[in-house]
Amino acid sequence: KEQPLRKPEWLKIKLNTNENYTGLKQMMREKGLHTVCEEARCPNIHECWAVRRTATFMILGDVCTRACRFCAVKTGLPTELDLQEPERVADSVALMNLKHVVVTAVARDDLKDGGAAVFAETVRAIHRKSPFTSIEVLPSDMGGVFENLQMLMDAKPDILNHNIETVKSLSPRVRARATYERSLEFLRRAKEIQPAVPTKSSIMVGLGETKEELIKAMDDLRTNNVDILTLGQYLQPSKKHLPVLKYYHPDEFQELKEIALAKGFSHCEAGPLVRSSYHADEQVDSAARH
Ligand code: SF4
Ligand code: SF4
Repeated sequence: KEQPLRKPEWLKIKLNTNENYTGLKQMMREKGLHTVCEEARCPNIHECWAVRRTATFMILGDVCTRACRFCAVKTGLPTELDLQEPERVADSVALMNLKHVVVTAVARDDLKDGGAAVFAETVRAIHRKSPFTSIEVLPSDMGGVFENLQMLMDAKPDILNHNIETVKSLSPRVRARATYERSLEFLRRAKEIQPAVPTKSSIMVGLGETKEELIKAMDDLRTNNVDILTLGQYLQPSKKHLPVLKYYHPDEFQELKEIALAKGFSHCEAGPLVRSSYHADEQVDSAARH
Protein backbone atom coordinates (compact mmCIF):
# COMPACT_ATOMS: atom_id res chain seq x y z
CA LYS A 1 0.00 0.00 0.00
CA GLU A 2 1.26 3.46 -0.86
CA GLN A 3 2.43 5.61 2.01
CA PRO A 4 0.90 9.07 2.23
CA LEU A 5 3.25 11.92 1.39
CA ARG A 6 4.95 13.51 4.34
CA LYS A 7 3.94 17.08 5.15
CA PRO A 8 6.67 19.60 4.38
CA GLU A 9 7.96 22.03 7.00
CA TRP A 10 6.13 25.05 5.64
CA LEU A 11 2.78 23.42 6.40
CA LYS A 12 3.58 22.56 10.00
CA ILE A 13 2.00 25.56 11.58
CA LYS A 14 0.99 25.97 15.17
CA LEU A 15 -2.58 26.87 15.83
CA ASN A 16 -2.91 29.96 17.90
CA THR A 17 -4.17 28.57 21.20
CA ASN A 18 -4.15 31.83 23.06
CA GLU A 19 -7.50 32.67 21.56
CA ASN A 20 -9.02 35.95 22.48
CA TYR A 21 -12.08 35.27 20.41
CA THR A 22 -13.75 32.77 22.74
CA GLY A 23 -16.60 35.23 23.14
CA LEU A 24 -17.15 35.30 19.40
CA LYS A 25 -17.24 31.52 19.24
CA GLN A 26 -19.79 31.48 22.02
CA MET A 27 -21.93 33.98 20.13
CA MET A 28 -21.83 31.76 17.01
CA ARG A 29 -23.17 28.82 19.03
CA GLU A 30 -25.87 30.90 20.67
CA LYS A 31 -27.04 32.19 17.33
CA GLY A 32 -26.79 28.75 15.74
CA LEU A 33 -24.38 30.02 13.10
CA HIS A 34 -21.54 28.27 11.33
CA THR A 35 -18.27 29.69 10.10
CA VAL A 36 -15.90 27.98 7.72
CA CYS A 37 -13.10 29.49 9.80
CA GLU A 38 -14.03 27.28 12.75
CA GLU A 39 -15.34 24.21 10.96
CA ALA A 40 -12.31 23.90 8.71
CA ARG A 41 -10.07 24.73 11.72
CA CYS A 42 -8.50 27.31 9.50
CA PRO A 43 -5.02 28.25 10.69
CA ASN A 44 -5.62 31.87 9.71
CA ILE A 45 -8.49 32.41 12.14
CA HIS A 46 -6.62 34.69 14.53
CA GLU A 47 -5.27 36.88 11.75
CA CYS A 48 -8.63 37.03 10.00
CA TRP A 49 -10.99 37.57 12.92
CA ALA A 50 -8.88 39.72 15.18
CA VAL A 51 -6.51 41.59 12.90
CA ARG A 52 -8.10 41.81 9.47
CA ARG A 53 -11.69 41.73 10.70
CA THR A 54 -12.92 39.27 8.15
CA ALA A 55 -14.76 35.94 8.50
CA THR A 56 -16.47 33.36 6.34
CA PHE A 57 -20.02 32.35 7.24
CA MET A 58 -21.60 29.18 5.94
CA ILE A 59 -25.33 29.55 5.57
CA LEU A 60 -28.31 27.34 4.66
CA GLY A 61 -27.31 24.84 7.36
CA ASP A 62 -24.25 22.69 7.84
CA VAL A 63 -25.35 19.62 5.89
CA CYS A 64 -24.65 19.54 2.15
CA THR A 65 -26.60 17.60 -0.47
CA ARG A 66 -23.36 16.90 -2.33
CA ALA A 67 -20.24 15.00 -1.32
CA CYS A 68 -17.19 16.44 -3.04
CA ARG A 69 -14.17 14.27 -2.41
CA PHE A 70 -11.99 17.03 -0.99
CA CYS A 71 -14.53 18.64 1.30
CA ALA A 72 -15.04 18.10 5.02
CA VAL A 73 -18.62 19.40 5.20
CA LYS A 74 -21.20 16.79 6.33
CA THR A 75 -23.29 15.20 3.59
CA GLY A 76 -26.94 14.27 3.88
CA LEU A 77 -30.45 15.55 3.65
CA PRO A 78 -30.54 19.04 5.14
CA THR A 79 -33.13 20.16 7.64
CA GLU A 80 -35.72 22.69 6.60
CA LEU A 81 -34.78 26.18 5.53
CA ASP A 82 -34.15 28.66 8.35
CA LEU A 83 -35.73 31.94 7.29
CA GLN A 84 -34.36 33.85 10.29
CA GLU A 85 -30.79 33.03 9.39
CA PRO A 86 -30.16 36.17 7.28
CA GLU A 87 -30.91 38.48 10.23
CA ARG A 88 -28.77 36.47 12.64
CA VAL A 89 -25.82 36.47 10.25
CA ALA A 90 -26.23 40.22 9.76
CA ASP A 91 -26.35 40.78 13.55
CA SER A 92 -23.13 38.80 13.99
CA VAL A 93 -21.36 40.67 11.22
CA ALA A 94 -22.29 43.93 12.95
CA LEU A 95 -21.22 42.64 16.39
CA MET A 96 -17.89 41.41 15.05
CA ASN A 97 -17.44 44.79 13.40
CA LEU A 98 -16.24 43.08 10.23
CA LYS A 99 -14.64 45.01 7.42
CA HIS A 100 -15.18 42.24 4.91
CA VAL A 101 -17.40 39.19 5.12
CA VAL A 102 -17.50 36.12 2.93
CA VAL A 103 -20.83 34.33 2.78
CA THR A 104 -20.80 30.81 1.46
CA ALA A 105 -23.40 28.05 1.58
CA VAL A 106 -23.73 24.33 1.33
CA ALA A 107 -25.26 23.14 -1.95
CA ARG A 108 -29.03 22.83 -1.44
CA ASP A 109 -30.02 20.67 -4.37
CA ASP A 110 -33.16 19.79 -2.39
CA LEU A 111 -34.51 23.33 -2.89
CA LYS A 112 -35.91 24.61 -6.15
CA ASP A 113 -33.98 27.87 -5.95
CA GLY A 114 -30.85 26.22 -4.56
CA GLY A 115 -31.21 28.51 -1.52
CA ALA A 116 -30.80 31.65 -3.63
CA ALA A 117 -33.62 33.60 -1.93
CA VAL A 118 -32.18 33.16 1.56
CA PHE A 119 -28.69 33.80 0.23
CA ALA A 120 -29.80 37.05 -1.38
CA GLU A 121 -31.69 38.09 1.76
CA THR A 122 -28.53 37.52 3.82
CA VAL A 123 -26.63 39.91 1.56
CA ARG A 124 -29.36 42.54 1.84
CA ALA A 125 -29.57 42.16 5.63
CA ILE A 126 -25.80 42.65 5.99
CA HIS A 127 -25.89 45.70 3.70
CA ARG A 128 -28.69 47.15 5.86
CA LYS A 129 -27.00 46.55 9.21
CA SER A 130 -23.37 47.12 8.19
CA PRO A 131 -23.38 49.45 5.19
CA PHE A 132 -19.59 49.81 5.25
CA THR A 133 -18.80 46.10 5.27
CA SER A 134 -17.91 44.64 1.90
CA ILE A 135 -19.62 41.35 1.08
CA GLU A 136 -18.20 38.53 -0.95
CA VAL A 137 -20.55 35.70 -1.90
CA LEU A 138 -19.25 32.21 -2.57
CA PRO A 139 -22.17 30.12 -3.80
CA SER A 140 -22.22 26.63 -5.29
CA ASP A 141 -23.48 26.56 -8.88
CA MET A 142 -27.00 26.59 -7.38
CA GLY A 143 -28.08 23.77 -9.61
CA GLY A 144 -26.86 25.60 -12.70
CA VAL A 145 -30.13 27.55 -12.77
CA PHE A 146 -29.16 31.03 -13.82
CA GLU A 147 -32.29 32.71 -12.41
CA ASN A 148 -30.84 31.76 -9.03
CA LEU A 149 -27.62 33.53 -9.86
CA GLN A 150 -29.58 36.55 -11.05
CA MET A 151 -31.44 36.65 -7.71
CA LEU A 152 -28.15 36.65 -5.85
CA MET A 153 -26.52 39.29 -8.05
CA ASP A 154 -29.57 41.53 -7.64
CA ALA A 155 -28.76 41.74 -3.90
CA LYS A 156 -25.53 43.57 -4.94
CA PRO A 157 -22.65 41.63 -3.43
CA ASP A 158 -19.25 43.35 -3.73
CA ILE A 159 -17.50 40.24 -5.09
CA LEU A 160 -18.90 37.10 -6.69
CA ASN A 161 -16.68 34.13 -5.95
CA HIS A 162 -17.29 30.70 -7.39
CA ASN A 163 -14.62 28.05 -7.28
CA ILE A 164 -13.68 25.78 -10.12
CA GLU A 165 -11.58 23.95 -7.48
CA THR A 166 -9.44 21.95 -9.88
CA VAL A 167 -8.38 21.52 -13.50
CA LYS A 168 -10.73 20.16 -16.14
CA SER A 169 -9.45 16.59 -16.30
CA LEU A 170 -9.77 16.07 -12.54
CA SER A 171 -13.15 17.76 -12.09
CA PRO A 172 -15.30 14.63 -12.43
CA ARG A 173 -13.29 12.83 -9.78
CA VAL A 174 -12.94 15.73 -7.36
CA ARG A 175 -16.31 17.49 -7.48
CA ALA A 176 -19.77 16.06 -6.98
CA ARG A 177 -22.33 17.15 -9.58
CA ALA A 178 -20.65 20.46 -10.39
CA THR A 179 -18.82 20.53 -13.72
CA TYR A 180 -15.90 22.55 -15.00
CA GLU A 181 -17.86 24.00 -17.93
CA ARG A 182 -20.88 24.89 -15.85
CA SER A 183 -18.75 26.72 -13.30
CA LEU A 184 -17.05 28.73 -16.04
CA GLU A 185 -20.42 29.63 -17.48
CA PHE A 186 -21.66 30.60 -14.03
CA LEU A 187 -18.74 33.01 -13.64
CA ARG A 188 -19.19 34.43 -17.12
CA ARG A 189 -22.90 35.05 -16.55
CA ALA A 190 -22.31 36.69 -13.18
CA LYS A 191 -20.13 39.21 -14.97
CA GLU A 192 -22.77 39.74 -17.65
CA ILE A 193 -25.44 40.43 -15.03
CA GLN A 194 -23.32 42.91 -13.00
CA PRO A 195 -20.25 43.94 -15.02
CA ALA A 196 -18.99 46.18 -12.21
CA VAL A 197 -18.85 43.35 -9.67
CA PRO A 198 -15.48 41.57 -9.69
CA THR A 199 -15.56 37.81 -10.12
CA LYS A 200 -13.18 35.45 -8.42
CA SER A 201 -12.30 31.77 -8.45
CA SER A 202 -10.06 29.36 -6.62
CA ILE A 203 -8.02 26.28 -7.46
CA MET A 204 -6.56 23.76 -5.01
CA VAL A 205 -3.29 22.25 -6.12
CA GLY A 206 -1.78 18.91 -5.20
CA LEU A 207 -4.51 16.62 -6.54
CA GLY A 208 -2.46 15.36 -9.49
CA GLU A 209 -2.83 18.22 -11.98
CA THR A 210 0.01 19.19 -14.31
CA LYS A 211 1.42 22.68 -14.66
CA GLU A 212 0.10 22.86 -18.24
CA GLU A 213 -3.37 22.03 -16.98
CA LEU A 214 -3.15 24.75 -14.35
CA ILE A 215 -2.14 27.28 -16.96
CA LYS A 216 -5.00 26.15 -19.18
CA ALA A 217 -7.42 26.62 -16.25
CA MET A 218 -6.09 30.16 -15.77
CA ASP A 219 -6.70 30.84 -19.48
CA ASP A 220 -10.22 29.45 -19.23
CA LEU A 221 -10.97 31.70 -16.27
CA ARG A 222 -9.64 34.76 -18.07
CA THR A 223 -11.63 33.89 -21.20
CA ASN A 224 -14.70 34.00 -18.98
CA ASN A 225 -13.67 37.39 -17.56
CA VAL A 226 -12.70 36.26 -14.07
CA ASP A 227 -10.77 39.02 -12.28
CA ILE A 228 -9.29 37.40 -9.17
CA LEU A 229 -7.61 34.05 -8.61
CA THR A 230 -6.59 32.21 -5.45
CA LEU A 231 -4.32 29.16 -5.49
CA GLY A 232 -3.70 27.06 -2.38
CA GLN A 233 -2.40 23.69 -1.33
CA TYR A 234 -5.00 20.91 -1.07
CA LEU A 235 -4.86 19.20 2.33
CA GLN A 236 -6.64 15.93 2.96
CA PRO A 237 -9.33 16.45 5.62
CA SER A 238 -9.51 12.72 6.50
CA LYS A 239 -8.41 9.33 5.19
CA LYS A 240 -11.71 9.00 3.35
CA HIS A 241 -10.91 12.03 1.22
CA LEU A 242 -8.66 12.20 -1.84
CA PRO A 243 -4.95 11.86 -1.05
CA VAL A 244 -2.48 14.67 -1.58
CA LEU A 245 -0.30 13.78 -4.57
CA LYS A 246 2.05 16.73 -4.35
CA TYR A 247 3.05 19.44 -1.92
CA TYR A 248 3.95 22.56 -3.85
CA HIS A 249 6.94 24.54 -2.66
CA PRO A 250 6.34 28.23 -1.82
CA ASP A 251 8.57 29.11 -4.80
CA GLU A 252 6.27 27.19 -7.12
CA PHE A 253 3.31 29.17 -5.78
CA GLN A 254 5.22 32.35 -6.43
CA GLU A 255 5.87 31.27 -10.00
CA LEU A 256 2.19 30.41 -10.54
CA LYS A 257 1.22 33.78 -9.14
CA GLU A 258 3.49 35.55 -11.60
CA ILE A 259 2.01 33.56 -14.47
CA ALA A 260 -1.50 34.45 -13.30
CA LEU A 261 -0.75 38.16 -13.05
CA ALA A 262 0.81 38.12 -16.51
CA LYS A 263 -2.43 36.65 -17.80
CA GLY A 264 -4.31 39.68 -16.59
CA PHE A 265 -5.86 38.71 -13.25
CA SER A 266 -6.16 41.92 -11.24
CA HIS A 267 -5.19 40.07 -8.06
CA CYS A 268 -3.80 36.64 -7.29
CA GLU A 269 -3.14 35.10 -3.89
CA ALA A 270 -1.03 31.96 -4.13
CA GLY A 271 0.62 30.04 -1.30
CA PRO A 272 0.50 26.85 0.74
CA LEU A 273 -2.08 28.17 3.20
CA VAL A 274 -4.05 30.37 0.86
CA ARG A 275 -7.75 29.67 1.07
CA SER A 276 -10.53 31.02 -1.07
CA SER A 277 -11.25 33.71 1.51
CA TYR A 278 -7.68 34.50 2.55
CA HIS A 279 -6.79 38.19 2.39
CA ALA A 280 -10.12 38.69 0.68
CA ASP A 281 -10.33 42.17 2.19
CA GLU A 282 -7.40 43.33 0.05
CA GLN A 283 -9.00 42.06 -3.09
CA VAL A 284 -11.94 44.39 -2.78
CA ASP A 285 -9.62 47.35 -3.04
CA SER A 286 -7.56 45.87 -5.83
CA ALA A 287 -10.69 44.91 -7.69
CA ALA A 288 -12.08 48.38 -7.31
CA ARG A 289 -8.96 49.75 -8.92
CA HIS A 290 -9.23 47.29 -11.75
FE1 SF4 B 1 -11.93 32.18 7.84
FE2 SF4 B 1 -11.08 32.26 5.32
FE3 SF4 B 1 -9.78 33.58 7.21
FE4 SF4 B 1 -9.67 30.95 7.15
S1 SF4 B 1 -8.85 32.34 5.59
S2 SF4 B 1 -10.03 32.21 8.98
S3 SF4 B 1 -11.73 30.45 6.45
S4 SF4 B 1 -11.88 33.99 6.53
FE1 SF4 C 1 -18.41 20.74 0.13
FE2 SF4 C 1 -19.47 22.62 -1.46
FE3 SF4 C 1 -19.04 20.11 -2.39
FE4 SF4 C 1 -20.97 20.60 -0.60
S1 SF4 C 1 -20.87 21.36 -2.73
S2 SF4 C 1 -19.50 18.89 -0.54
S3 SF4 C 1 -20.02 22.20 0.68
S4 SF4 C 1 -17.48 21.62 -1.74
